[in-house]
Amino acid sequence: MTPDSGAPIPLVDGVFRIADGRPVLLVSRCSSCNERYFPPRERCAACSSDEMQTEEASQDGELYTWTVVRELGRQRDGFIPYVVGQIDLAGGPRVTGVVNCDPDAPAIGMPVRLCLVPQGHDDDGNELVGYGFEPADLNR
Ligand SMILES: [Zn+2]
Repeated sequence: MTPDSGAPIPLVDGVFRIADGRPVLLVSRCSSCNERYFPPRERCAACSSDEMQTEEASQDGELYTWTVVRELGRQRDGFIPYVVGQIDLAGGPRVTGVVNCDPDAPAIGMPVRLCLVPQGHDDDGNELVGYGFEPADLNR
C-alpha cells in the first residue's frame, strides 16, 4: 500500500482501510446465508459456502461485553489498565477491540464508534495504526 504524504498506514493489510481519519472494517458476507465475518474469510463457517463478498462495516456499534486488562506484560501505550470489548457493529458482525475509555466507564449497550489506534512507525517513518473503539459521545 502506498501512503498519501504522511497519512497513517493500517498495521495489517486487508482488514481495514482509513477514510476521513477513521478505520472502516472490511467484512466478508456469505452470498448464500448472509452471515458476516470479521476479519474477512474465504469460506462461511455457517454453511461452508465459498461465495463470499467483501463489504465495509458500520463505524458505529454497541458494547456487547468487555474486560479490563490489568496484567503487566504487553503494555498498550505504556499504561494499564485498559479495556478490551466485544462490539456489535450496526448491521454486524460482532468484533473485538480495545475501547479507549476509563476502566470504570464501560456499560453493556454503550454506544461506541471506531477510531484509529497508534501502533508506532515503520522503517520509513510512516505512522502505523490499528483500529479500536471509543465512546460515541466523544468529539461529536
Ligand atoms: Zn453462509
